[in-house]
Amino acid sequence: MLKIGVLALQGAVREHIRQIEELGCRAISVKSAKDLKELNGLVLPGGESTTMRKLLDRYELLEPIRASAAGGVLMFGTCAGLILLAKEIVGYDTPHLGVMDIVVERNSFGRQVDSFEAEMRISGVGEDIPAVFIRAPHIAAAGENVEILAKHEERIVLARYGQFLGCSFHPELTEDFRIMKYFIEMVRENTNVLAH
Ligand code: GLN
Repeated sequence: MLKIGVLALQGAVREHIRQIEELGCRAISVKSAKDLKELNGLVLPGGESTTMRKLLDRYELLEPIRASAAGGVLMFGTCAGLILLAKEIVGYDTPHLGVMDIVVERNSFGRQVDSFEAEMRISGVGEDIPAVFIRAPHIAAAGENVEILAKHEERIVLARYGQFLGCSFHPELTEDFRIMKYFIEMVRENTNVLAH
């Protein structure tokens, strides 16, 4: 059975765990470096990226997660999780994990409207996928090997860079599991390749 970790420092952890389990995988809540052992995939949930960074430092998780990434563990970042993955953050000198070849901008969908829902068409995933945006970032620029999977108002909101999948919104807050299923398929394919 595939083991998918969910970084459990802050944010919508339980909702991700529920989707992972309903899709037939084992979900591991990750609170310290030892929980990263033997994971096939790792989900970085939404929350507040600056707070999450403080907690990553406090629990000494930043380098171990980077090491897991270097070791080939697939990672899926949603909202603040996307910010954690990015190589560059607009207005900041240094990134957090800095593993995904994208530039992200925080809080990019306006101050008046803190949150909204939209229906997305996602390449390789499907149509009419509900997406909840909460003070969401967007991908302002992407490297040439980044596959752009969805846009909202001309802005990139879902993309894949090899082993990394990142989205601006919160798929875990809906009853539509297709994006998590897509991530789990990525993990499964990768695990099959390693097994042969
Ligand atoms: N605005 C948050 C940040 O910049 C992200 C919001 C979220 O994860 N829902 O970290």
